[in-house]
Amino acid sequence: MKRRIRFENWNRNFSCRPALYAEPHCVEDVVQLVRLGHNEGKTLRPVGSGYSYTPLVQTDEILVSLNRIQGVERIDRDIPAVTVRGGTRLFHLNRFLASQGFALGNLGDIDRQTVAGAVSTATHGTGLGLGNISSEVLEITLVDGRGNLTVIQDRPRLRAAAVSLGAMGLMVSVKLKIVPHYWLQVDRKVVELDRALDELDRNVANHRNFEFFWFPNLDFAFTKTMNLTANRAAAGMQLFVRPVNDYLVENGILWVLNEWSRRFPGARDRLLNIIPRVAPQEVSFEPAERAYATPRWVRHNEIEYAIDIRNVHRALTELRRSLHEAGTRVLFPIEVRFCRRDDLYLSPSSDRDVAYISAHTYADEAYHGYFQRVEQIMKRFGGRPHWGKLHFLSGNDFAYLYPRWDDFHRERQTLDPEGLYLNPYLKTIFAGKREPSSG
Ligand SMILES: Cc1cc2nc3c(=O)[nH]c(=O)nc-3n(C[C@H](O)[C@H](O)[C@H](O)COP(=O)(O)OP(=O)(O)OC[C@H]3O[C@@H](n4cnc5c(N)ncnc54)[C@H](O)[C@@H]3O)c2cc1C
Repeated sequence: MKRRIRFENWNRNFSCRPALYAEPHCVEDVVQLVRLGHNEGKTLRPVGSGYSYTPLVQTDEILVSLNRIQGVERIDRDIPAVTVRGGTRLFHLNRFLASQGFALGNLGDIDRQTVAGAVSTATHGTGLGLGNISSEVLEITLVDGRGNLTVIQDRPRLRAAAVSLGAMGLMVSVKLKIVPHYWLQVDRKVVELDRALDELDRNVANHRNFEFFWFPNLDFAFTKTMNLTANRAAAGMQLFVRPVNDYLVENGILWVLNEWSRRFPGARDRLLNIIPRVAPQEVSFEPAERAYATPRWVRHNEIEYAIDIRNVHRALTELRRSLHEAGTRVLFPIEVRFCRRDDLYLSPSSDRDVAYISAHTYADEAYHGYFQRVEQIMKRFGGRPHWGKLHFLSGNDFAYLYPRWDDFHRERQTLDPEGLYLNPYLKTIFAGKREPSSG
């Protein structure tokens, strides 16, 4: 199906009107479409669920969604691994895996993304023993820039393709490592921020998944730990508790507080102080497919940086001091998560264990000053931005941050020599050079 549309990302911070929007029905259609673009000299951008804040998919030429190319192709029980079509939503994959006695090893805050979209930007959850979703990729089948169906299994090329921002080809299927199905005990607590910082190393080391968040200029932190459990006795309770927490507390109250604060800015401090009182403190028991993601209804802006975990204390101390000095009062939290190192050329956790630090604002609120302040500090600690989240970096900044930048581009060139998959945003980023040019 081909038609004209106006595309908007989830956050509605960018939109575009592609000359052609296509939802091919099968891999053969994808091949034909890419050849059409190639022959007519038109660029093409793959889009997933549109859950990226950066204009990765923005184009006025051809926009391709794999909405109609979804579903699981195969489970290899002995590895174990799943081969899944690129347009499959993570929540569909999770449910299917659970029905087969399997699960993904980790997941981020939401599960609405497509598999190909999540893989392309190194989507991560939290847990220092756990890598991002791209590091779980064993094989990618894509249609390259000349319309050839290509299977990528060999390491050098996979190290480039597993985080490639839709710039090496259109991924029609991905083979991912999976694990036997499991349950998690989830503990949510409100503690003093100083205590959360003091206990950070211990919590990271002792829990399978650990994260915490705090609101700038509030001295409380909200911690969340998750650990494997065989205890499902209390699971029945969750039928009620989880929806109350997910829908009412995490979304409804956040929205109400932000709307009030926008209308009555003078009440912001009082509103901030409500948060620790309404935040949930509970223990719950959740199956893997339900434990990680919560609905995100309140539109917001987000910046997120991965810094070497060895710098996390200094970076957080500096961030806290800086936001205090600036008198930042935002009714959206700063979130701190952790991720295991990998060897993928453009992964923010390439060659280092990282702490991910993210800041948010309500969608309609100005974010530049606040996010630039956060970014300045993250840059000082060699931070790398999440590819799908807001940043103010140039191509040269990226080239400097990624030691394997040139290796990535060498692999990219072999699959898309004419730049069929590049839009203006990617062209700007990819123009970045590691060394100053001599000319
Ligand atoms: C509310 C919210 C919560 C989030 N939570 C997290 C989180 O917890 N952890 C985290 O790491 N990130 C998180 N993200 C970011 C999100 O996971 C990434 O931006 C992800 O890439 C979005 O997936 P998508 O399917 O929407 O892809 P899109 O945003 O549509 O596209 C992302 C990239 O994938 C490429 N792409 C899409 N489909 C294909 C394909 N078939 N072949 C090749 N390339 C393709 C696109 O060209 C683009 O470069 C969150 C985002 C939002 C809005």
